[in-house]
Amino acid sequence: HRDLSKSNAQFQRAVKRLPLGVSSTFRYWGDDRTIYVHHGKGGRTWDIDGNNYVDYRLGYGPAILGYADDRVDEAARRGMEVGGVFALSTERELIVADRISKMVPAAELVRFSNSGTEAVMAALRLARAYTGRESYLLVEGGYHGLFDAAMWMSNMEEWDLGSNTDPELVPYGKGIPQTVKKLAHITPMNDFQRLEDVFARHGDTFAAMLIEPIQGNCCSIMAQAAYVQLARELCTKHGVMLIIDEVKSGFRVGKGGIQGIMGVTPDITTFAKAVANGYPISVVAGREEVMRTFRYGGASHGGTYTAHSVSLAAAEECLRILDETPALETLANYGERLKAGISDILNARKIVHSYTGHPSMFGLFFAETPPDNYRDWKTSDYSFYDQMAYYLHDLGVICEPDSREPWFMCEAHGLDETCLTDTLKAVDM
Ligand code: PMP
Repeated sequence: HRDLSKSNAQFQRAVKRLPLGVSSTFRYWGDDRTIYVHHGKGGRTWDIDGNNYVDYRLGYGPAILGYADDRVDEAARRGMEVGGVFALSTERELIVADRISKMVPAAELVRFSNSGTEAVMAALRLARAYTGRESYLLVEGGYHGLFDAAMWMSNMEEWDLGSNTDPELVPYGKGIPQTVKKLAHITPMNDFQRLEDVFARHGDTFAAMLIEPIQGNCCSIMAQAAYVQLARELCTKHGVMLIIDEVKSGFRVGKGGIQGIMGVTPDITTFAKAVANGYPISVVAGREEVMRTFRYGGASHGGTYTAHSVSLAAAEECLRILDETPALETLANYGERLKAGISDILNARKIVHSYTGHPSMFGLFFAETPPDNYRDWKTSDYSFYDQMAYYLHDLGVICEPDSREPWFMCEAHGLDETCLTDTLKAVDM
C-alpha cells in the first residue's frame, strides 16, 4: 500500500469545510482513499505524500498533451496579458473558430462557453429554439453534463424491451424536478429497431436527439457507425436536430472527432475537454442556419466568462499542435502499445479480456467480447476490474475505479517510455 497519510490528514481537515472533502463528488474515493494532488507533469501526477502515478484519467480527458504542457502554458501566459474578460470580443475568437471549423467540417459556425455542461445546455436550447419543439431523446449510458434535462436514465430493471413501450425515467439523484421528466425520452444504444420505434412514436415532437457515439463516461462503449447513421436518417426525416456530444471524444480520437470516423454530420456538436489541454473552454458548433438562431429574439446564449482570454490563447496553441503535429498519432500509438502490453500479461495468465473504444480512450473488460450497450455492461460482473484498478493505484498507476471511465492517453505518455514500462510492471505484479 502507498503511504497516503498526508492525503488522509488533508481529508480530515477538508471535510469540515468542503462536502465530502472535495469539489466534485466523483473525486471522493472513500475517507482513506481520497487523494490530494501536489502537481502533475506530462503523463504523471504527484500526490501530497510524494507518490507518483502514471495517470490514465487526465482530469477525465482534458490533458490531451499532458499536464503542464510548456507550449500551451506559455500561450496561456500570453492570453493573461490580454487582461481577462471584457464583455467585449477579441480577435483570437475568430482564429480559434477558424481552426475548429477547418478540423471539423460540421462546425460551420462556432460559439464558445466554459464547460461541457454549458455547451450541451446551449446545444439543446438551440435545437429547441430552431425547431420550436421541447422534448428530446437520450441514449442509455450517455452523459451530457449536470443540467436537469440531461440527468435522466431508464429504469432498466423494470423496462420490458419486448413491450414496445417507453421506459420509466429515473433521475441521477435528488434535486432534479419531476416536471422536466415529461420532456425526456431514452433508448438503448445499438438497438436499431427500438430507435425506429421511438421515432415512429414521438419523432415529430423531438427537438433533438443527443448521442455520445463513444461513451466516454461509460467505459468507451461504442455506438456502431450504422446506428449513428440511422439516427442521422431518422432525425432528418422527422426534422430533429442530431446533437453529437464530443465533449470527451472531440480532438482526441482524431482531428475530426468520432463524427469524422463514423462519417456522420450532426446538426449541432459540442466539444470541451481536449480543446485547450485543460484550460476551461467549451464549444457549441454546427450548421450555419441552425447556429444563426443565436441572436436577439432567438436562442439566448452568453456568459460572463465565455471566450476568456487565457483559455482562448491556450486553445489556439493546443488545437494548432493537434492539427499540425503528430500528437494525436503519438498518443493513439501509445494506446495501442499499452493494450498490446496488457494483453500479453493477461494472456500469459489465461485471463479472458477485451477492449472497446479508441486507443486514445479505451475500455478494458474481462469478457470475451466487450459490451455494445450500457445495459449489457451494467448487468455484467465488473468487480474484478474494480479490484484491479484499486490494486494499480497502490502500485502507482491511476485508472478509474468502478469502471465508469475509459483509460485516457496523452501525447506525453507516448514521449516518455517509462510510462509504458512502469504501467506494465504494475499490471504484471
Ligand atoms: N458531455 C460529455 C460527453 C462529457 O463527457 C461531459 C463530462 N464528463 C459533459 C458533457 C459535461 O462536461 P463538464 O463536466 O465540463 O460540465
